[in-house]
Amino acid sequence: MEDKPYPTIFEDECKGCGRCIAACPKSVLQSSGNLNKRGYVYAKYSGEGCSGCFICFYNCPEPYAIEVYRPDKEAA
Ligand code: SF4
Ligand code: SF4
Repeated sequence: MEDKPYPTIFEDECKGCGRCIAACPKSVLQSSGNLNKRGYVYAKYSGEGCSGCFICFYNCPEPYAIEVYRPDKEAA
């Protein structure tokens, strides 16, 4: 794994509210356009450019939908 920060979105926990997409200062989150098994259009990471700021994590109302990995920190 590359030693850069990145978010992990657990697609079946996502409710598709879009808060993380709106809040990300790097604009690296987007709608996947796909439904998860609960019927929500889940968010996804574009794949690069995450700064590891955790803003998506703090804006997500679902407790298990996003984790952020940062090389200098344990996963949140
Ligand atoms: S940690 Fe920050 S830069 Fe990375 S996806 Fe989340 S909000 Fe965007
Ligand atoms: S804020 Fe959480 S629930 Fe809302 S779209 Fe992002 S990951 Fe999904």
